Amino acid sequence: ALLSTCPKVCVVGGGPAGFYTAQHLIKARQDVQVDVYERLPVPFGLVRFGVAPDHPEVKNVINTFTQTAKHSRCSFYGNVNVGKDVSVAELLRSYHAVVLSYGAEGNRSVGVPGEHLSGVYSAKDFVGWYNGLPSCRELDPDLSCDTAVVLGQGNVALDVARILLSPLDILKKTDITQPALEALAASRVRSVLIVGRRGPLQVACTIKELREMVTLPGTRPEMTPSDFEGVKDALKDLPRPRKRLTELMMKTALERPGEKEQERWNSASRVWGFRFFRSPVEVLPDAEGKKVAAVRLAVNRLEGSGEGAQAVRSGDVEDVPCGLVISSIGYKSLPIDAGVPFDSRRAIVPNSMGRVQQVLGLYCSGWLKTGPTGVIATTMNNSFDTARSLMEDMDSGKLDVSAEKPGSLRIRALLEEKGVEPVVFSDWEKIDSLEVRRGEARGKPREKLLSVEEMLAVARS
Ligand code: FAD
Repeated sequence: ALLSTCPKVCVVGGGPAGFYTAQHLIKARQDVQVDVYERLPVPFGLVRFGVAPDHPEVKNVINTFTQTAKHSRCSFYGNVNVGKDVSVAELLRSYHAVVLSYGAEGNRSVGVPGEHLSGVYSAKDFVGWYNGLPSCRELDPDLSCDTAVVLGQGNVALDVARILLSPLDILKKTDITQPALEALAASRVRSVLIVGRRGPLQVACTIKELREMVTLPGTRPEMTPSDFEGVKDALKDLPRPRKRLTELMMKTALERPGEKEQERWNSASRVWGFRFFRSPVEVLPDAEGKKVAAVRLAVNRLEGSGEGAQAVRSGDVEDVPCGLVISSIGYKSLPIDAGVPFDSRRAIVPNSMGRVQQVLGLYCSGWLKTGPTGVIATTMNNSFDTARSLMEDMDSGKLDVSAEKPGSLRIRALLEEKGVEPVVFSDWEKIDSLEVRRGEARGKPREKLLSVEEMLAVARS
């Protein structure tokens, strides 16, 4: 067939969901063309701006995404903000199908008095700051205090705790930004408490992240042994991953370490620990009323057991003095275009198997489809599922692909009228190689460009 009569699909968002959806469509059908529109001038979403700098192996998925982006039937258009520069309705007119994969860029707020005090940050912003997300560049968190409290006990919470406590020698060999590295070098934070409303059997982290904390050089764990009452009896009924995770926590909290480990603990200058059965009720200010001085935590007890156990307030509260609070209680998707159905209670685009309800030709994948949970492999699977739904609809005739569609030809013309100049993949490769070169000079895998202006200047050089 002539290229112009090929099915044209566009993907909104150049993160894992966007690239995995594109990959599956291109591999499964020899005729489909896929255009990926991304708001930032640089691709890969949370793989670049979320995944911790000391997890370089996780970022290897970038190689697969790059292969997809360089495929002859795939095009990447960065620096295009869908919903603002171009509407979803315009995309639906120009393509046979549109897949929304724009992730979860909002964050759930704790919703307690005092959360807007200085010294209180969302994990999303803090992570964005140390990973070079342009919108978080000015965050400049105050690390001059002794104690930091992280609210939440998922993997992101542990990423934050680990970055706060990691020896500089480890961090300086990663792609963490230079300003973050300098701020962490001057950091006075010695103690990080990781607070969760429920107990050890309900933590949301995985064993890899917990083990990294347990073995983090220069630190020792400090747990409350009484939090583990009854946990041993529950062990035998747990599914294997949760069982291993719980065993590691119990070993850390309850057992005397071996001689070598004891030595490491004795010489540790920094401590971390889980604080279970605690919910934040208020962030308390210092005497001037501007900065955080403590968090007030309600003491909970559990009703029910296992994953479904509910935290119930006991009536007691306790104040934990701290100068830094980082809330890590979840990301959430935001609506980008009034024309797209959005379930604001669940913060997702309502869909069945990736088909957006009520809108023919519109699909969704990734965190926008499922909510912000799971690792990249989870995102991959749900994106492949969406691609399958889309192809089923092409095959069944539900989605009419017989009429010619203008695709990027029309969208690029519309963007030009608005003065929006997309960054194509070869432009990104200029940014990439400059970042890698800047990194080499410092013994790092990459030194990221920190502003959209800089990125655009390099792309256009
Ligand atoms: P995203 O990765 O967020 O991609 C969405 C993309 O859409 C972004 O590039 C964004 O710029 C773009 N976009 C947004 N709005 C628009 C718009 N209006 N127009 C155009 N484009 C838009 N998983 C692991 O397996 N290992 C890890 O170690 C790991 N660490 C993580 C650490 C953190 C802090 C976080 C938050 C997540 C981590 N994950 C990890 C999970 C992983 O990042 C996600 O599973 C995955 O990134 C979700 O992919 P996505 O494409 O749905 O969203």
